[in-house]
Amino acid sequence: MQAMEDKKRSEISELGEFGLIDHLTRNIKLRNKSSLVGVGDDAAVIDHENKLKLVSTDLLVEGVHFDLSYTPLKHLGYKSAVVNFSDICAMNGKPEQITVGIAISNRFSLEAITELYEGIKLACEKYQVDLVGGDTTSSLSGLFISVTVIGSAEKDEVVYRNTAKEYELICVSGDLGGAYMGLLVLEREKQVFKANPDMQPDLKGMDYILERQLKPEARQDVVNTLRGIGIKPTSMIDISDGLASDIMHICKGSDIGCLIFTDKLPMDPVTIQTASEFQIDPNTAVMNGGEDYELLFTIRQEDYDKIKDISGISVIGHMTDASSGMYLSTPDGKAVEIKAQGWDGLKKTESP
Ligand code: ADP
Ligand code: MG
Repeated sequence: MQAMEDKKRSEISELGEFGLIDHLTRNIKLRNKSSLVGVGDDAAVIDHENKLKLVSTDLLVEGVHFDLSYTPLKHLGYKSAVVNFSDICAMNGKPEQITVGIAISNRFSLEAITELYEGIKLACEKYQVDLVGGDTTSSLSGLFISVTVIGSAEKDEVVYRNTAKEYELICVSGDLGGAYMGLLVLEREKQVFKANPDMQPDLKGMDYILERQLKPEARQDVVNTLRGIGIKPTSMIDISDGLASDIMHICKGSDIGCLIFTDKLPMDPVTIQTASEFQIDPNTAVMNGGEDYELLFTIRQEDYDKIKDISGISVIGHMTDASSGMYLSTPDGKAVEIKAQGWDGLKKTESP
């Protein structure tokens, strides 16, 4: 549990800002031909190659978005990059460049920040993205990480949130609710550890959901699969705040309603098992948990045959007219209105 325990500690102050930047960005090779100039000049230079450019930023604040008592810095780096890649995938694009801004307090050693960058670089390697710049500054308390991603898509490829239509099918990739159950387990073990530092964390059999929380992936593979079978989603979003809140974005944006069937919601057995241990309804983890970074998208009914045998994609319901509202249908025939209680960082008074 002690992610911050340093083996060796070198002070960043000995290197200075430029030394640190050089240490973190040395040996970076550019992979995309659109990345003309990366780290080193006043700005990166990116060729738009006659495509549309997609840009998205996420700012992560220690204690609000991540907890270093159970988040290894390498995982944190990986996740901060990947959640940005996911936003580009959700537009049906390909992430190509990122810039990374960090603010660090003197609590962090050079080794710690190097670990963070190892994670960022690993994500960049896996998704073939170039780290082309950033900013490095000090903070009085805590760690701040701001990642901006730039992606691209052909002009007719971009998929928006507000373009779904009545009768279209609602699909989701992978399984849902796991990241939230992973978070609950980590929070539980943190409390146990606080009460008794000699207790070993009990994480047996939990690997899957812990990985869902600590090391999520962006579903670029799903974007490629859909393209390969000739489906362009009619709308798409990535599930960062929970299915409830993200389907609401599509419905509200597109001015339609939806009907989702709870028995079609994809869940991993470990998610279901852990939810039962915590005595919560696994559907709640799916609807309101968040951070699964799966893709939620709509397709035309006539595309059903193309998608029905693709493994890892579930059809969970369909779009209705706006006046029918947004509902979950249970196997015993009950209809429950969908309300977003998901993660709204600004509205919430405490984290989930
Ligand atoms: P300036 O003073 O012009 O803002 P900096 O000294 O902040 O320049 O940055 C020098 C170069 O290093 C720039 O190319 C910048 O994009 C890059 N850089 C700075 N900090 C980081 C970082 N944390 N990660 C990646 N690149 C960085
Ligand atoms: Mg700067």
